[in-house]
Parts: sequence; structure tokens; C-alpha cells
Amino acid sequence: MSEHTITVAGVAVDARHWIGGERVASTQTFPDVSPIDGSTIGGISRGTAMEAAAAVAAAKAAFPAWAATSRAERARILHAVADGVEKRIDELAIVETTDNGALLRSHRRGVMPRVAHNFRFFADWLLKLEHEDFETRGHTNHVSWDPAGPSVLITPWNAPLMLATWKLAPALAAGNTVILKPAEWTPLTASLLADIAAEAGVPAGVLNVVQGYGSEIGDALTSHPDVRRISFTGSVPTAKRIAESAAANLTPLSLELGGKSPLLVFADADLDLAVDLAVEQYDNAGQVCLAATRFLVEESVAEEFTRRFVEKASTLTQGDPRDEATDIGPNIHLRQLEKIDGFVQRAVAAGARAVIGGHRVAGRYYAPTLLTDVAQDSEIVQEEVFGPVLTLQTFSTEEEAVRLANDTRFGLAATVATGDPERAERVTGQLVAGTVWVNCFFVRDLRAPFGGSRHSGVGREGGTWSFDFYCDLRNTVTAPDGWKNHG
Ligand code: NAD
Repeated sequence: MSEHTITVAGVAVDARHWIGGERVASTQTFPDVSPIDGSTIGGISRGTAMEAAAAVAAAKAAFPAWAATSRAERARILHAVADGVEKRIDELAIVETTDNGALLRSHRRGVMPRVAHNFRFFADWLLKLEHEDFETRGHTNHVSWDPAGPSVLITPWNAPLMLATWKLAPALAAGNTVILKPAEWTPLTASLLADIAAEAGVPAGVLNVVQGYGSEIGDALTSHPDVRRISFTGSVPTAKRIAESAAANLTPLSLELGGKSPLLVFADADLDLAVDLAVEQYDNAGQVCLAATRFLVEESVAEEFTRRFVEKASTLTQGDPRDEATDIGPNIHLRQLEKIDGFVQRAVAAGARAVIGGHRVAGRYYAPTLLTDVAQDSEIVQEEVFGPVLTLQTFSTEEEAVRLANDTRFGLAATVATGDPERAERVTGQLVAGTVWVNCFFVRDLRAPFGGSRHSGVGREGGTWSFDFYCDLRNTVTAPDGWKNHG
């Protein structure tokens, strides 16, 4: 324990950066506030360009040895990290819940086991990663994935450790060294992960964690000439800034951004299933990039769908996310709440009707909201709210449903509820979205490509696609008789 240790629900968390295998403090700190009750958890080292440069230098120094480490050894170490995560699931879960307000039961049962799985999956995938050799006029082509170098990973607050490790695991597996910059709203679990990684044998400098405000430390990381990859999950405006900053060195970017995804409910759908899928969209208080926030419902069943939705949504319990009975916790911070409420009040002023909700409740909570009578070109239909606010529109033909579904600048995901397999095939083939779910939601497999189209992102990660991004792909062509004159 040091003066930099914060204790969260009995768990000791170091509030400093982790650079080159050492804890490094900044001269200034920033306050980390819990959305559960607005209390200050502690002061976190507030990184500047100086710490950014130190972290990149550490990652650069550690890169040659890590890149030269065998695949088997890298995979072994990543499994050891997964073991360390599994040993500390309860601690990671309570710390994450305190920091970002998402449900403790989800963190314990779903999110933290998935964090461990991220490491295991990419460790195992690394060992299988290969491309069959092929011939060109007798010459052999051999494809390899070479580690690219220091990689900057920048992540948001809505699923902090899950999203960080979804990038971190393939980057480390690929042989890259990493500088992770978690969101300033949720700095804690990244710091715990640094401890776990060190205990698991990740060498000094291979994983570095820098804390701070994106606006203060971000540019120094993303414009650094020694950085070879940047993977970012967050909002569209930040992505544009990062792209500008990365342009100086043409640093390759992977961008996982926002969404305004539709849930299409056709009259032939199992309406109970459709309602279950719809109510799920309030998960994590609506702070889910993939959330299907726009319900598009066939006119003939819209009234019945709405009635059943309201009935089910009113059984949700809103409250302390540490409580097992809670379904919806708080939103991340007051500014986010004001933003959410601003969207809703402007929509209502423009003629929308709140079927449920439409207002703040005490603390940092927003009432689960469903708005009808919204125009397709209105702000509430076009812009990502990132809160428990959903809209409902109706359609009368399949063509109209597809047109409305595709008519935003986003393309992250789409969900289709229908009882007709042929319709499912027709409709899914026309939707612009990185992931389309039919009669299900949020089924994620790490072998699948993940990402968004249009303003929802650039590139895909997952399975081999992650290695394609984090590596420099090389094709080596060898002549058929190239050795004959070499003794
Ligand atoms: P944000 O863009 O405000 O911040 C994300 C991260 O970027 C934070 O770590 C922040 O500190 C950092 N940052 C801010 N300015 C920076 C700069 N100039 N340079 C470098 N880094 C900078 O996003 P947020 O509010 O934390 O997250 C919510 C957004 O993330 C939503 O739009 C949501 O849809 C999106 N999201 C997308 C996915 C996905 O996989 N597509 C997943 C989760 C969240």
C-alpha cells in the first residue's frame, strides 16, 4: 500500500500509471467519481504528454523481445493473465460497478468471465493462425503475420475492462506492445489489470497503462511517430480528432464507434420474443453501442407490441447496481444525464409523445423512456442518445422498413424479429450493419468480424481480422529452384 492506493469496497487499486513495469505518479490528479451516489472514489494520476512519451518509449523498448517471443510462450502468458482475472472476478466486478454503475450481477456472471475469455480466445487463435501456402508458376507464396509495434488502445467507460481486453488480448498475442488509455470516468480496472498482467509474467513495458483526460493526453499518444497501431472505441467526434492526429504518421486505425441501430418487428414475428428483445435495450441504462434504440414495428401489430412492451418495461427495477434485484442502474455522470434529458425534451417539444418515462429521477438515474410520434429526420431518430431512451415508428411494407432502418449515418447493428425465414434472408441482405441478429440479440462470438459501417466505424476486429489489423502482413515468395546455385 502506498499513498497512491485507493481502497474500493476493500480492494486496493493503485491510482498511478503503469509504465515500463513501474508505477509512475503525475504531479496532478483528477477525481474519479462513482455514478452510484456521486461520491469521489479518489484522485487518479492525471497524465500529460510527458507520461504519454514515457509510455511509448517503454513500449518501443520492450517491443523487439516481445515480438521475438515464441507464439507458444506468448499464448502461455496470456492464459496466465486469464487465470489471474478469473481469480479476481469478484474484486474486478465490484470495482467496475463502483466506477461505471453497471450491474454487479452482470459484471460477475457475464462481463468478467468474458474478460478472461478474451485472453484465452486470442491466445488459442494465435496458435492456429496460418494461411495455406500457394504457388505462382512454381514459386511458393508464404503469408505471415508480423508484429507491427507499439499500439495505442483508447477505450470508453460503458464496458471498460471488457472493451479494453478485447483489444489488448489480440494486440499482445500478435506480439505488439501496448499503451492502454482507459476513459477518465472509469480508470480503476485497467490499473488492476496491470497488476494481474505483471503477476502473470507479462514483461515490463509490454503492457503500459496511462490515465488522464483524453483531451490532455490523447494527442500525444495518437500523433506519436513510434506508434504503429491505434485502436479506439468511443464517440464519432473523438474518432475524427484521433484520425486527424494519426494522419501525421499515417498510423493505421481501427475505430469502433456509436450506433443508432434498429429493431425491426414484422407482423409475423413472435410478439412476446420481440417484446423481450425490445426491453433488453434498456440494459446498462441504455449505454450500449449496439443497442437497438429505434423500434420499427409493422403497423398492424404496433398497438399490441406497445401495450406488451409497456407492461414488461414497467416491471423493471431501477436502483443501486450492487443490488441483485436491480435491472437498471445509474447513468455515468451528470453531464451525460443532462445530455440525455436534452434529447428527450427537444423531441417532446417537436411533437414526440413519451409513452413511458421522459424525465430524470433522483441522483444519476433516468427513467426508462419510449417515445412515439417521432419523425425520421428528427434529432431523436438520427442521433445516438446513449441512455435509456428508445423510439418507436411504424411501417406498412418491408421496403419501408428497410428504408427507415438504413436511413441514419450509422451502421453498427440491426435486429430483425420475423417468423418468416425468407423474409429474414431478404431483409438482412439489405441492411447496412456490421452485425445483424435475427430473432435474438447480443449473441457475440469472438470468431466473428465485429465493427461498424459508415459513421459506426472503420475496420473489423475479431478472430483473424484482429490479427490482420494488429500485424504487418507479409507475403514471402520463394523461387522453385532458388537454392541450386548456393552449394
Ligand atoms: P469518448 O469518445 O468521449 O471517449 C472515449 C475515449 O477517448 C476515452 O478514453 C477518452 O478519454 C478518449 N479521448 C477523448 N478525447 C481524446 C483525444 N482527443 N485523443 C485521444 N483520446 C481521446 O466516448 P465515451 O463517451 O467514453 O463512449 C461512448 C461512445 O462510445 C458512444 O458513442 C458509444 O456508442 C461508443 N462505443 C462504441 C462501441 C463499439 O464497439 N462500436 C462500444 C462501446 C462504446
